[in-house]
Amino acid sequence: MFHIDHLGIAVNDLRQARSFYELLGMPVGPVELVEHEQVRAVMVQAGESRIELLEPTSPESVIGRFIERRGEGMHHVALHVDDIEEVFAEMKCAGMRLVSDELKMGAGGHLYFFVHPSSAGGVLVEICQNADADVAI
Ligand code: ZN
Repeated sequence: MFHIDHLGIAVNDLRQARSFYELLGMPVGPVELVEHEQVRAVMVQAGESRIELLEPTSPESVIGRFIERRGEGMHHVALHVDDIEEVFAEMKCAGMRLVSDELKMGAGGHLYFFVHPSSAGGVLVEICQNADADVAI
């Protein structure tokens, strides 16, 4: 079943960004380093969904360049699916513009891929499987 797994937000300073959610009393997870994406990430639990705070570890990273161009803010919407390989194949078949040619594996062992904003109404969409994983970029 589909649901919003998380909203990815690009921030300059994780500590500062997480303090907002802590003030609200929301559960904030530990900081995780995702080396292949060059980010440090924190997940904030929001009911069934989560908010993913992403701080670049390099200005050359995807998140670093995003902040450079557009400032901090909403970076992507992540949808959870039950069969990511089927969805990936369907999207490719339908000619959707995907950010990568293959599924990627996140820090928690879950799978994900990104759909380019030009194929998704101007929003970068992450499709992911396994909502229990700690980090999904
Ligand atoms: Zn994400």
